[in-house]
Amino acid sequence: MRLKTGLVWAVLLLGGLFVYHDDRFQAVPNKVITAVSQWRSSLATELNAGNNSSMASSATSSVASSVTSTSSRPAASSTTTEATPIESNVQGKTLATTYYYHFAADMPAKAQQAFTAAVAVYNQTGIVKLVAGSGTAEQNQITFFVYHKSMSAAEQGTVELGHGGPNIIQRVGWGAYTANHARAGLNATYSAALNRSVAIHELGHALGLDHSTDPNSVMYPVEQGKTVLTAADIAGLNSIYVK
Ligand SMILES: [Zn+2]
Repeated sequence: MRLKTGLVWAVLLLGGLFVYHDDRFQAVPNKVITAVSQWRSSLATELNAGNNSSMASSATSSVASSVTSTSSRPAASSTTTEATPIESNVQGKTLATTYYYHFAADMPAKAQQAFTAAVAVYNQTGIVKLVAGSGTAEQNQITFFVYHKSMSAAEQGTVELGHGGPNIIQRVGWGAYTANHARAGLNATYSAALNRSVAIHELGHALGLDHSTDPNSVMYPVEQGKTVLTAADIAGLNSIYVK
């Protein structure tokens, strides 16, 4: 999933918001085509959900909950503690909690620092354990990288800050395993992307979190500078990793 700044350039010049957007990788090894196509469809879903329908549905549900909360307070509070959604391609999968991560070649120091800080944030949850190293085919892996993508006026002034997502590898039969060979990247064309809040968002996608409609969530699709996981973000991770 990509993190974009979804604002008009004029707004950016005024110091406006950055939006998380989601994208797909261009160079894809043949052996992960199937997994990537699952991932692409989840991206497409997320793009729609993050940009339009989930905002609309959250507005709808908050209206609904405010109606019900006049007679039932618990309904309103259960809405606010709803777990951050998870990516469709991790749903129903049993994943190990240990990830081996490494940096791609030629990573700027600022990007490495941002991802290192993001790793610490997720390790502090105690839910997943991210360890420097390569890992084997059957182990979970994360590759951190940077890329360069300039946004044109045709893209309506949105600035993509990064992208990332889970990439589920399943081997069936003898020696069966399920692993997540995820990627998380920052768009180094924009200095605002080399930032821990962006890295936390993209690493969240890599671990299986989808976009949240809560502006306090690190998974909100518009960059808010959030660096602390909400209870809902942690609940989302739990739903993936604690069975
Ligand atoms: Zn995103």
